Amino acid sequence: MTLQLADILAARRTIAGVAMRTPLVPSPHMSAVCGSEFLLKLETTQPIGAFKLRGALNAVSAVREGAPGVTCCSTGNHGRGIAYAARAKGLKAVICMSALVPQAKVDGIRALGAEVRIVGRSQDDAHAESVRLAQDEGLVEIPPFDDPLVIAGQGTIGLELLEDRPDLEAILVPLSGGGLAAGVALAAKAVKPSLRVIGISMDRGAAMFESVRADTPVEVTETASLADSLGGGIGLENQLTFSMCRALLDDYVLVSEDEIYDAMQTLYYEDRMVAEGASVVGIAAMKAGKLPMIGGPVATILTGRNVDMLTFTDIVAGRDVTLGDVELKGRSYAA
Ligand SMILES: *Cc1c(COP(=O)(O)O)cnc(C)c1O
Repeated sequence: MTLQLADILAARRTIAGVAMRTPLVPSPHMSAVCGSEFLLKLETTQPIGAFKLRGALNAVSAVREGAPGVTCCSTGNHGRGIAYAARAKGLKAVICMSALVPQAKVDGIRALGAEVRIVGRSQDDAHAESVRLAQDEGLVEIPPFDDPLVIAGQGTIGLELLEDRPDLEAILVPLSGGGLAAGVALAAKAVKPSLRVIGISMDRGAAMFESVRADTPVEVTETASLADSLGGGIGLENQLTFSMCRALLDDYVLVSEDEIYDAMQTLYYEDRMVAEGASVVGIAAMKAGKLPMIGGPVATILTGRNVDMLTFTDIVAGRDVTLGDVELKGRSYAA
């Protein structure tokens, strides 16, 4: 099975009007930092506060009438997208998540009327439960990234980016399971082959980076992170995103928890925006000087804003933050 630009164009028609065409805005501060134009794609403005609505809508729209419902595993935002899309279609939704998922994300999903199951301490545990629900109760399982309709939905972001700015030289994509990066890279490179797409992950448990380096999907240890939406493996039986990322991504960059902390402060103080840790890894990588190869207009995708507000306010106030075994020293923002 291979995905094509036509699949992404079809996804765009399917999700139009429910998923927003999001703004692409300049960041004057980050443009000064990197010496060329730096743009932010505001997926934070989607109705569920994250881009995952795109893939979720595209996949749920294909569920047959009369199905008993849908299920998925999620680090939070895919579940929220599925809950939103299922409610719009009058379908029951059961979202399986691990105990590592922040409470704010759990609450957001329940508020959309979906049933939430907290199982185990990893995405693998949550995945086992959604597989079981599909087998035992006939719910339709919608994977969070390794699914052609999900990848095509996320890829619609790539089309919008190049329509708004055909002169883009590079796109910095937050990378976890790779549904977003695979879709965006496929769309964007179909339109502009010279464009560079760089995947950015946190340095603890970067599953796609480790897998591409090993040349086969590998398991990683899942730990707490400010970029909680980037946690989890890519699946040892990965069908699509591993080979797509390997073929389409030009580079991989890893950022530390301290760099993510700093980037969340930077976005808040300089651009007055609220975003979750996973969203700001492109800013973190650029500020840390880890992208010397990039020149010309560059865009990063602010993938979501569903951050725990107590953690967020601690960060903007410069306080210490503890997440599981991660302890981050507070520091006031200085440009
Ligand atoms: C899911 C998610 C990502 C990563 O997407 P993948 O398709 O798993 O690589 C990045 N940021 C946020 C906010 C997410 O919810």
